[in-house]
Amino acid sequence: MNVVKNMNLMNHEKHYNTLHHYYLHKYRQKVFKISLNGGFTCPNIDGTVATGGCTFCSYMGSGDFAGNKLEPLAVQFEKIKQMMHNKWEEGLYIAYFQANTNTHAPLKRLKELYEEAITLDKNIIMLSIGTRPDSLPSDVVEYLGELNQRMPVQIELGLQTIHETTSELINRAHDLACFDDAVQRLREKRIEVVVHIINGLPFETKDMMIETVKHLNTLDIQGIKIHMLHLMEKTKMGYQYKKNPWKLMTLEEYVDVTVDQIGWLRKDIIIHRLTGDSPSSMLIAPHWTRKKFVVTNEIDKKMRKLDLWQGDYDEKERTS
Ligand code: SF4
Repeated sequence: MNVVKNMNLMNHEKHYNTLHHYYLHKYRQKVFKISLNGGFTCPNIDGTVATGGCTFCSYMGSGDFAGNKLEPLAVQFEKIKQMMHNKWEEGLYIAYFQANTNTHAPLKRLKELYEEAITLDKNIIMLSIGTRPDSLPSDVVEYLGELNQRMPVQIELGLQTIHETTSELINRAHDLACFDDAVQRLREKRIEVVVHIINGLPFETKDMMIETVKHLNTLDIQGIKIHMLHLMEKTKMGYQYKKNPWKLMTLEEYVDVTVDQIGWLRKDIIIHRLTGDSPSSMLIAPHWTRKKFVVTNEIDKKMRKLDLWQGDYDEKERTS
């Protein structure tokens, strides 16, 4: 496996590789992700592989902050870009297809969308595509490999958990072997892979969540997004919870698990996210997930208190 060890992006504030520092180190300026909506559906909703979708998924296809699919990509891009510039004066852009499964269309359509997206602005430095591992046929991977030589391509791949019982419970409709295979095929084309996982899925213990991270350490992945399970209105899991509530993770439990996961996470992997996000009006529970800064501050505080750095547990196990 070809991985870069010790990116040296950690500092006294953050004991792990943050995306912010990674981009600053690489591009010397702020990088924004501009979420575009290409009007995709999802094979886990439309019957291609299953129906109903993942039980936590919102009707927006887990792209609750993406652009409006009824508008041309150029309009979506300009609107979100302006919003970003209200906060930061300067920056480079990543064109990001976020909502639903963004490789779930004929290759011809994918080419039209992606080729348009990368030319929307001269300051676009990357194309990022959120998808499922079972939606990467060989012709699409072949094309993405070719595109990756002209414009860096990053694939955000949903996994959520390595545990098949949970996966079945939440109706992921693919297995771990399918995920591992997708990572390998993308890496053969040197495409950057960022994996999404969720902490706090029903019946998962702390050990199970840590096992998910340990499995990811064995794969050639470059980034990770760790989310807390948040229950939203108009989702199957949201209905299940309202009908028969179960105990969700507290902030303290989430911090405890996530800190240990970071301790186990390989040192070269970039952490893109440590919290989940959902529009306030759609959130059922847990309410503490609204306070993103509190969550990351608590994680940072605990890592400093323990003097724990990303990958310390992993390194200790490898060298003992
Ligand atoms: S694969 Fe993604 S878009 Fe499809 S149902 Fe699951 S979370 Fe939603």
